[in-house]
Amino acid sequence: MEHLKGMRLFDTIKDASLKFQCMYKDCTNSCCKNFHTVEIGFDEIFSLSRYFVIHFPYDSVNGRFIGNALVGFVESKTGCVFLRDGVGCMLGDDRPLFCKSYPFFVHPDTSRLIIDPACPGFSEVEGALIYESNSISEEIRRKYIVYGIQLVEDILKMREFTKFLADNDLLVSGNIEIRGKSVQINLVNESKLLDLDKNTMEEAINKGYIKAIYAHLNSFKNVDKLARRVADMEGGDEDLVVL
Ligand code: SF4
Ligand code: SF4
Repeated sequence: MEHLKGMRLFDTIKDASLKFQCMYKDCTNSCCKNFHTVEIGFDEIFSLSRYFVIHFPYDSVNGRFIGNALVGFVESKTGCVFLRDGVGCMLGDDRPLFCKSYPFFVHPDTSRLIIDPACPGFSEVEGALIYESNSISEEIRRKYIVYGIQLVEDILKMREFTKFLADNDLLVSGNIEIRGKSVQINLVNESKLLDLDKNTMEEAINKGYIKAIYAHLNSFKNVDKLARRVADMEGGDEDLVVL
């Protein structure tokens, strides 16, 4: 799982006194300033394509394509496009499940609890205990883990979807270029999609895959939002090319 890179298993013995409290605008290592992509599930394609570029990078460790929302531009260290100083996340409840769950995740294959040690909200001093009375505390479960569980369920649906895309050879690679710097992306080739045989097309329609593919393709209109954000942060005019 791409989004679990750099994270570690929560250890119920070693981490017995570990607490968590988000530091929000006082955070010294804000996740929203560090995120440039977030892994998403299948159902999220529809809601998040309104805000972000959605694409399907290859996870070489696990040998499959995954769903990603491009929330920032790594070359410019912009952080997330929807982060506003002094305000926080502009998306409120529409933000990705990844963001709602962070810095806690549930492993899709083992259901074990994962935490991101890079988050400065963990300490043994401040905040809510993560584990008490032999289970995850109610506060941490309600605020974070419920979203981690939703994300896992949706990632499993995404796996089926990207397998369908790969099995039918529908993905091609391309680039988004902003201010002379490029990001490699994988997108659906619409010509190949239209050439699918009748049975495969019916399967794609019935499973909601066609709607998802067009939400993904339409998400490329959000490249200009990213370019404007980069221009705002770096100064100067926006300069973007989509290939
Ligand atoms: S979740 Fe962690 S990294 Fe993100 S703002 Fe809160 S304390 Fe900072
Ligand atoms: S969508 Fe919101 S919570 Fe997620 S990275 Fe962007 S600003 Fe942060």
